[in-house]
Amino acid sequence: MSQNFEKCGSMLLLQKAIKENKLLESKRNLINQKVYTESMNNVTIPVVVHVVYSNAQNNISDSRIFSQIQVLNEDFRRTNSDAINTPSQFQSVVADMSINFCLASKDPDGNPTNGIIRKLTNKSGFSLYDTTIHYNVTGGSDAWDSDKYLNIWVCNIYGGILGWAQFPYAGTKETDGVVINHDNFGVNLNYSSAYNLGRTTTHEVGHWLNLFHVWGDNTCGDDFVFDTPTQEQANYGCKAHPFISCQNSGDMFMNFMDYSDDDCMNLFTNGQKSRAWNCLINYRDKIFISDGCDTSNFSMSCDASIESIIHPSNNDSICDQKIYPAIVIKNNSSDPMYTLDINYRLNGQQYTYQSWSGNLSQNMSDTVYLASLKNVQNNNILEIEVSLPNNKIDLDFSNNFSSTNYYSNIGRTVNIQIQTDNYAQENQWYLYKEVNNSIIDSGVVLSNNTLYEREYCLTQGCYHFVIFDSGNDGICCNFGNGYFNAFFGDSLIGSGGSFASIDSLSFCISNENQSTNLNNLHDSVIEIYPNPASDNLFFKFKSQITINNPIFVEIYDVAGKKIISKKITSNILNISSIENGVYVLFMSIDSTKYTKKFVKQ
Ligand SMILES: [Zn+2]
Repeated sequence: MSQNFEKCGSMLLLQKAIKENKLLESKRNLINQKVYTESMNNVTIPVVVHVVYSNAQNNISDSRIFSQIQVLNEDFRRTNSDAINTPSQFQSVVADMSINFCLASKDPDGNPTNGIIRKLTNKSGFSLYDTTIHYNVTGGSDAWDSDKYLNIWVCNIYGGILGWAQFPYAGTKETDGVVINHDNFGVNLNYSSAYNLGRTTTHEVGHWLNLFHVWGDNTCGDDFVFDTPTQEQANYGCKAHPFISCQNSGDMFMNFMDYSDDDCMNLFTNGQKSRAWNCLINYRDKIFISDGCDTSNFSMSCDASIESIIHPSNNDSICDQKIYPAIVIKNNSSDPMYTLDINYRLNGQQYTYQSWSGNLSQNMSDTVYLASLKNVQNNNILEIEVSLPNNKIDLDFSNNFSSTNYYSNIGRTVNIQIQTDNYAQENQWYLYKEVNNSIIDSGVVLSNNTLYEREYCLTQGCYHFVIFDSGNDGICCNFGNGYFNAFFGDSLIGSGGSFASIDSLSFCISNENQSTNLNNLHDSVIEIYPNPASDNLFFKFKSQITINNPIFVEIYDVAGKKIISKKITSNILNISSIENGVYVLFMSIDSTKYTKKFVKQ
């Protein structure tokens, strides 16, 4: 390629515009009406990138676009890593332009966007002076409001030109922006060229901000910037400093507004900063009120979260050989959520994976029952993490994780009720474990006509409940209506009352293999009856509970679908409207949740 080719079409475009509009030059003087002062600093320019492509090669990747935005930010904030190559002679004039760029996050209608538009075109390329790139109808892409966005069109450019920009006042709003050849856009190391580091766009955005070439497009010409040396002509390649022309003490060939190789350029000057900011405050002033970079008014486009862990709740005490975690997941994104990955583990051990699928619109939540884990005696931490909603990267990880601490006994809840008769002093009872005849509990001084209710968490083994009556007439039914009942959770395992001097009941708690159904969910301090029930469920609260707030009840079917959700004000819940079947009831009392299984028939 010839050394002295025209890299950039911007000045040609400006000259054409001046030729066509004699008033343009006087108009362009307005751009210095308000004058930049040091107190104005930092603007962020929303960028929309129009990828107008005809094949896979010019349909450039998102990552290339991201790399270009990064190069713009580095070059306009002088955080470019090659800033160290600036000769000491120019150190006093180099500038942090205080201009930032974002890929637009909000489109002109206020909707979320990634700031990238891709348009398939049937045109194999575009030429300088050809405005078809700027319109949908001619195979290009319509500009977004160029008062509020920097429009960058990326396409195949004919004729060896790497890009061009529209100077202020020098065209219409529809054509305002910069156009960059696809190979020269972003950091493109696969492209063997001296112009593959994204500096073409830095240069063209300089023109968009009214900067001229440092040689003034004339022999020893003027770029209207006081601190760039007058130089004879464009520099190509990478000159050795000092390269003297026009009696200067060295061309500023490393200025972004020269024609040097990308890896040779590294600076803008203070004078260029003033000129660019005069352009911003006089001509592109709507950029300052653009909300194109604003993300505050809409949710992340791909964000799931764990709203709560229903079971086990924090500081819960659980009596079971297995733990049955239940969580509420939520979709925070505007797109519906159809799938989600859930990973959970106990005490830092290996994660168990479970997938969720369903259909959740924005801000909707769902309860997910996870497959059981083998419980561990004493203190446990259960950690749960959700990821990959709809198989995409979750954009906000901060709400994807939750954990709960609970205490567990590896056992099974057994409830025993004893109702005494008129002669309770005749009775004594014992609960003991068979293996060593160790007494678990006993009642030896009892009150007449009193209901004793006990709850135990019993570990694996066989147990015997024995009740004595020294009067030889049992506890029913001649001198009062006494009885005893024993339950596994809600299931009656034995009862009695009519006996002579002794009655007993034996039962065994099997190993973990046997308690795998929902019946073994934590059932704690409430009871529901009758079970099965047909019309009304009654709740009975054990004495140790104090209730300060309304009680919320949720009923789920075995598929996890919520059937009833309501606040209750009495101990009765009408269930006549639900279909026959097995259900799980969650009751929230203050901040604690309790679970019961029941059958509707
Ligand atoms: Zn140029």
